[in-house]
Parts: sequence; C-alpha cells; structure tokens
Amino acid sequence: MTTASGEELDLLGLFALPPGALDWQQRAACAGHKPADDFYPRLVNRSRYEPVSATATALCASCPVRVECVRFGLTSGCPVGVHGGFNMGAKPDRERARAWLAESDRRTYAEAS
Ligand code: SF4
Repeated sequence: MTTASGEELDLLGLFALPPGALDWQQRAACAGHKPADDFYPRLVNRSRYEPVSATATALCASCPVRVECVRFGLTSGCPVGVHGGFNMGAKPDRERARAWLAESDRRTYAEAS
C-alpha cells in the first residue's frame, strides 16, 4: 500500500506488536472522542491536507501520552491520522513530529542523568 505522496507503507508492523504495547491509549486525552474528522484531516489535493483541527490540537497539547502517541505514529508503519497534534499523513508534519520527539527524548534523558 502507498500513501497519497507515494510512500510505501509496512502494514505488517501493526500485527507484530507485543501484548500491552498499546495500553497507553487507555490514558489518551482523546479516548472516547467520537468525531473521527477531528483526527483525520482531509486531503485537499494530491499532497496537501487541511490543517489539523483545533479540537485535536487542543486535546493533543494536554495529552499525558503524547510522547507514546507520536512515537507510535512514526513507527507503526501506518502513517495516517493525527498523532500528538501532527498529521502523520503529511510528510512535513512527520518531519516536525520526528524533531519534536527527538527534543522530548533529549530533555527526558537530560533530566534523568
Ligand atoms: S496525543 Fe492526541 S491523538 Fe495521541 S492519544 Fe493523545 S489526544 Fe489522542
């Protein structure tokens, strides 16, 4: 399967998750949030998406599992939908998400040492 921008997806990664790997989703700020449109920006043309909704942006900004969610969105092999306020369907957003996650990890390790 390929994305709208022509990238190959590795969907098999989704089936190789160990038990409990997604337990963090139970603590998600969006748990129980129904309108799927808030977390799946529509494709405007071949490579451009509508902006991430204000609802998703606000929920993700306050979410206690944002780090886990962004890491999953970047590594699950299925880059679709909003994770941590970033649209994983859009390459520029994925690049911003990688930079955000790297900075978050750097801060976490700096605080631990
Ligand atoms: S970061 Fe956003 S999309 Fe991810 S679990 Fe939290 S509220 Fe949901």
